[in-house]
Amino acid sequence: MSLQFYNTLTREIERFKPLKQDEVKVYYCGPTPYNYAHIGNLRNYLMDDIIVRTLRFLGYKVKTVMNVTDIDDKTIRDSQKSEKSLKDFTEFYTREFLDDCKKLGILPADTIAPISTLIPDMGMIIDGLIKKWYAYLAEDGSVYYSVSKFKKYGQLAHLDIKGMISSVRIDNDEYDKEQVADFALWKAYDRESDGENFWEIEVTIEWEKKILKGRPGWHIECSACNMKFFGPQIDIHMGGCDLVFPHHQNEIAQSEAYSGKQFSKYWMHGGHLLVDNKKMAKSANNFYTLRDIFAKNSNTSETLIARGFRLMWLQNQYRENFNFTQDRLQASINTIKWLDEMMKRLGRYKNELIGDEVEWTELEDLRERTAKWRLKFHEISREFRDNQQAFMQEFIEKLEDDFDTLGAMAIIFEYQTYINSGIDDELFSLEECKSIIDFLKTWNEVIAIFDFELLESNEVIPKEIIALLAERNEAKLNKNYTESDRIRNELDALGYKIIDEKNGSRVERK
Ligand code: AMP
Ligand code: ZN
Repeated sequence: MSLQFYNTLTREIERFKPLKQDEVKVYYCGPTPYNYAHIGNLRNYLMDDIIVRTLRFLGYKVKTVMNVTDIDDKTIRDSQKSEKSLKDFTEFYTREFLDDCKKLGILPADTIAPISTLIPDMGMIIDGLIKKWYAYLAEDGSVYYSVSKFKKYGQLAHLDIKGMISSVRIDNDEYDKEQVADFALWKAYDRESDGENFWEIEVTIEWEKKILKGRPGWHIECSACNMKFFGPQIDIHMGGCDLVFPHHQNEIAQSEAYSGKQFSKYWMHGGHLLVDNKKMAKSANNFYTLRDIFAKNSNTSETLIARGFRLMWLQNQYRENFNFTQDRLQASINTIKWLDEMMKRLGRYKNELIGDEVEWTELEDLRERTAKWRLKFHEISREFRDNQQAFMQEFIEKLEDDFDTLGAMAIIFEYQTYINSGIDDELFSLEECKSIIDFLKTWNEVIAIFDFELLESNEVIPKEIIALLAERNEAKLNKNYTESDRIRNELDALGYKIIDEKNGSRVERK
């Protein structure tokens, strides 16, 4: 199979054919930094992250660009409220956003562009659209896009706009499908709402150059950002499904009217994060930030919560909405703990084999490389190789099928069972063990939820704790369960938990 996924533009699952094999251009709409991001926003960037990681894992050379909407009604309004300059205000929340992403293992885009750095690029497109009669200057000095001029308008959002376009213009950036109208590319300066925040572009109207003072509309920024860093055509454009209309529809209208070329070949949209089955949104005041979640779960480490988050979302189809509950998060954190147990066991198993190998090679009479020696340490059996190949193939097939991370995770859980039972039966040689670790590392390039430091977490258990464990095992053997339970509780109070395994029991710090 090869990669195929759902394209919002055609409403079909399509085979992926990049414009150029050696550089896949991927763009996603960035945050509006007027507050901390909520976990709904972050889910969206996690989707972008998993898709980009998967493309790279499958061998595509991907270049990513993301804008930051630092000029906007909300950033201007709230920076004024907080009596900070727009720059300081938006830079603070952009840093916080990037920090949240880092905590969640979301890789930053290769290029991150605050749109305040793209004013000349926006000016160039606006000027070009005026020249081609797709845009016009209104009486107040704003520039509007003339929706009826763009024949394909409505294609992405699947709107039949015949008879829909009203004669009114809309100067809000966000509006409903029922309100299709000419939208603002450039908003004339209004001292009352904009304060000190204005920019200038130069346009030509009927052979006369004019300087327009004001600020850009929301949609033009993404057209300009793409044009600047990628040129007129890109492979994949992503965002949350609330952006299909009007934002992405308007990006298409602007970019394609300006360049005469198809803008993005594929459009991908993620489902929403819901709380109590309603979209999580700042405006609905039903949102949590990552810091809220960390505070709510203060007895769990931030890294564990972050990995739990990733897993929770990996176990959900990216196009589906996702109803967030604390229980779902907790369930994912518990699963992560099981994966951690596997990692620790694997580390111990490997380190024991390394120790054994040293002992074996130190013994004179065992220095010859006997068949047994090879088997225990160096052989990769045919069966093992076949198993590895089958697991990898299934993992890839799941991802190639519209980024089915839910299916890919199911393969990983199967692999976890395979590892655990192989360790129980001491099946793996040292080389096989290393190959398992390499395998997990390869998968982790996509999922980024494993903690490989646990492989080397050889904790030293104090002697008295080991003695208590021995007493407990003795009591258990003698079927004195009251005593064995008492010792379990005593160990628990001392901060240790007993882990019963097929080959015996051991203790571990909780
Ligand atoms: P904003 O910072 O509001 O511009 O939003 C940034 C991104 O988050 C956009 O791609 C939105 O589609 C996405 N987004 C906003 N709310 C949600 C939500 N509840 N669930 C998933 N994505 C969301
Ligand atoms: Zn955008």
